[in-house]
Amino acid sequence: MRFKVLSGTDRMLEALHARIDDKRADLVALTQNLVRIPTVNPPGEAYTPCAQLIGERLRRRGFEIAYIRGENAPGDSDRHPRTNVVARHAGSRPGPCVHFNSHIDVVEAGHGWTVDPFAGVVRDGKVYGRGTCDMKGGLAASIIAVEALLELWPDHVGTLEISGTVDEESGGLGGVAHLARLGLFSRPRVDHVIIPEPLNKDRICLGHRGVWWAEIETHGSIAHGSMPFLGDCAVRHMGAVLEAFETDLFPKLAAKHTDMPVVPEGAKSSTLNINSIHGGQPEGYSGLPSPCVPDSCRMIIDRRYLIEEHIDEVKGEVVTILDRLSAARPGFRYGLRDLLEVIPTMTDRGAPVVRAVADAIEQVLDRAPDYVISPGTYDQKHIARIGHLHDCIAYGPGILDLAHRPDEFVVIQDMIDSAKVMAQAAHALLSQRA
Ligand SMILES: [Zn+2]
Repeated sequence: MRFKVLSGTDRMLEALHARIDDKRADLVALTQNLVRIPTVNPPGEAYTPCAQLIGERLRRRGFEIAYIRGENAPGDSDRHPRTNVVARHAGSRPGPCVHFNSHIDVVEAGHGWTVDPFAGVVRDGKVYGRGTCDMKGGLAASIIAVEALLELWPDHVGTLEISGTVDEESGGLGGVAHLARLGLFSRPRVDHVIIPEPLNKDRICLGHRGVWWAEIETHGSIAHGSMPFLGDCAVRHMGAVLEAFETDLFPKLAAKHTDMPVVPEGAKSSTLNINSIHGGQPEGYSGLPSPCVPDSCRMIIDRRYLIEEHIDEVKGEVVTILDRLSAARPGFRYGLRDLLEVIPTMTDRGAPVVRAVADAIEQVLDRAPDYVISPGTYDQKHIARIGHLHDCIAYGPGILDLAHRPDEFVVIQDMIDSAKVMAQAAHALLSQRA
């Protein structure tokens, strides 16, 4: 009896893989069509036609379609509406819901391309273009995976969902964060989420490090530039902050190591990027600055932290240095403003979605997966924090290093392989009891 059930599943998976192989041309065409809609963010170009391409395709296959605008989100306007699409296919019997979430926005093309970044050129088994890797190739693979599964299992258990969401590249506020606030990424509506970001077809990304962005401002007092001793230079005060960072903070951060499997290796430590510094008066109409002592200098810091660190401790390290300078350095006054906070997130390796994808990778690629943590964040943060849903990973085709670069591409066979993994994992998750 047990043997019979297993062999039935094996036959199903064999048919599923064969069906996805048969859809190769459809997968390539879908990827090309997605790339040809230049959903560049900023400003958030052409979101509506891209959402409609996905929505109308899936509507024809029996999905219920909702277009949900991220109203009043940063960047939302009638010219650049933040249009998200959510497609839902409820089965004939109740069961869990598996959701594939992809962002539809891409970063600007930039310079250095040898092909048209929005033509969807196919060459040597790859599709080229902005967003092929990050992450329209993954989106197309997930659509093909779900379509193949539905063809072979029309009376499926549970629910399959596919969403195309906006603004991931700028923080996801009008996209996944907005949908999560509406309850679309919470139980009981959704149980398992796979985000097909380009982490490579044999790697499961369990989560990401934390983020703290802040602005430090040092104050001075303005005076004539020919008599700087009458004023107090805010830029020199900021220089003292930088010096303290060099001697005290950077070595301390480099010495912290995480047990999270972060890639690349350098990101296993805490890191700090000095994002920008602005101080003094800008050059005027003459092209020359006004001769003044700067009374303000602002610095933006981008601190990435580890799951072993607490946000209060992360902020405390900087505050301690600033307070020490206030006590020791005549005239030193500062302001500190939080700009962004994201807590680190890491899905448990034993979580159902992780196990289902790991099993599928072993079967499709004949090797065990690598488990990784992303150095930077992606939309999983909103699903964890706002949706309180923790059975979520990133898994998809594409080589992460190619994201955002000229001549970005995705390997067609990688899309096929990862579509098989996604379809098989969805089949396994729906077949489980909720
Ligand atoms: Zn991405």
